[in-house]
Amino acid sequence: MPKRKDSLLESLIRCIRESPLRLTKKRELILSALLTSDRPVSAMQIRERASLPEGDLVTVYRTLEAFLTIGIVQRVPLENGACLYEVTAPHDHHHHFVCRCCHKTERLDLCLSDELERRAQAIGFKQVAHVMEVYGVCPECEEAQASGH
Ligand SMILES: [Zn+2]
Ligand SMILES: [Zn+2]
Repeated sequence: MPKRKDSLLESLIRCIRESPLRLTKKRELILSALLTSDRPVSAMQIRERASLPEGDLVTVYRTLEAFLTIGIVQRVPLENGACLYEVTAPHDHHHHFVCRCCHKTERLDLCLSDELERRAQAIGFKQVAHVMEVYGVCPECEEAQASGH
């Protein structure tokens, strides 16, 4: 397991080196922190995992934005407007089922990007990006609700 993570970290670092972004120590910490979780995490959790001080939360957000623009991070919007983040290997674009109670996520390997590209092209839209997350209640939360707690 750690081996896979190491090689993923290496390939992500390569992506940064090949991009206009500078690879700073903090950016590397944030990237490693993202890799400590198999699930999407919040900027706050990333800051904690990277052992960065509270004041660095803005830096974490800025870094995530920068990673988003070069495509090594995906954003998982929640229904309440907050966002979770996860690293994405090149060409590993995917979506999620998101529990609206506990924010647990499950990978959803379904995407309409080809169709969306086609439709965008038809109306002259370029540089198209899309967001598609599916919200529901996970089995554990469903059970907790059913048992009245
Ligand atoms: Zn849940
Ligand atoms: Zn997609």
